[in-house]
Formats: sequence, C-alpha cells, structure tokens
Amino acid sequence: MRLIFIGPPGVGKGTQATLIKDHFDILHLSTGDILREEIAQQSTVGIKAKSFMDRGYLVPDNILLEMMEKRLQQPDSENGYLLDGFPRTIPQAEGLDDILERTNQVLDAVVSIELDTDTIVKRLSSRRSCKQCDSITNLLFNPPKTEGRCDICSGELVQRSDDKDEVVLNRLTVYNEQTAPLLDYYTNKGLIITIDGQGDIAVIKNNILEVLA
Ligand SMILES: [Zn+2]
Repeated sequence: MRLIFIGPPGVGKGTQATLIKDHFDILHLSTGDILREEIAQQSTVGIKAKSFMDRGYLVPDNILLEMMEKRLQQPDSENGYLLDGFPRTIPQAEGLDDILERTNQVLDAVVSIELDTDTIVKRLSSRRSCKQCDSITNLLFNPPKTEGRCDICSGELVQRSDDKDEVVLNRLTVYNEQTAPLLDYYTNKGLIITIDGQGDIAVIKNNILEVLA
C-alpha cells in the first residue's frame, strides 16, 4: 500500500496517518523526519541539505527528491508507505512520479482529508499551550481540570500566536493556494480520495479503510 496524505492544519491528518499506517503496517514518512535522519547520519545528501538550512534557506526540491528516492528504496519501504507533508508542490509531485517510475512503484491513492474553514478555525483557536512545560491541550476536546491551568504542571495556559483566529485563517489561505493545484494534479490521475474530517476519529479511520479496500 502506497499512499499520500493531504490535509490542512487542524484536520486530524496526523492522527489518521498514524492509524492507517498501523493498520497496513507500512511506514509513515515525513520530509522532516527523513531530513533529520540524513543529517544525523551525515550522509552526502544530508550534508547538502544542512548547508541550505544553516543559511536559512528552504531545502531545494532536487535535494528533497534525492532523499526521497533513497528512502523509498530502503528494504523497510517494501511493504509500502504513507507520505505525509510531501509532495507540497507540482514540481515535487512530478519529481515523485519520476522516482516511482524509475523504481517500479505505483501509488494506490492520495487521501485528502477535508473540513470546512469555520470548524478548523474553531478547533485550532481552542488550542492552549502551557507556558511552563509546552504541553498542548484543547478546550473543545480535552479541557483542563482547572480552568486556565496545565493538567501536568499547573502552569498557565496561553494561546499561541499561531492559533489566533486571523493567523489560522491566513495559514488556511496559504495552504489552500498551495494545495489546490496538487489536488487537481492527482484528481487528473484518478488517485484522489476525499474524506470528511468531521466527526469521530474511529469513524473517519473506517471511512478511509473502506474506500481503500
Ligand atoms: Zn504544563
């Protein structure tokens, strides 16, 4: 099983990715993790990537793709994988297609988890983080036992600037602009599966599994 997961912040993509990778016993691969691995190993491509990051630049696509190609050919990738946060752009998607062709691999589906903007803003703006221990809680799903206080260390709970309504709206706009072409790209290939991100975690998981079956 080879999958790509796409979804805006606050949609529950990470949670579903973990459940689905466990179900199929496949790898959960994110570019961030792969980058960290390569840099820790001081591989040739890791050293190249780090030289860009150290100067405050984004790692260029050709380096990301080189890393991906290497990773997707490791023995533990044989049973399949779920790509999370990659590709983000059309050039990356095209590069990934080239890799898949060279390595005789086929994508099974691109899972797009969707949720209306109001719900996402409500979810993200309900997040609070502890000033002392950085743990995150959500007033909607997991309210603290004492109002305004962290369950773990009793530190003060605050809203991070990232989670304020107008910042969330802006993050969503940027996300939609970036992702819309990608959704078209995979729709044209007949690979898109659209999943409603509203509702119970277990139900959403079953909906995904049903469409993939
Ligand atoms: Zn705390």
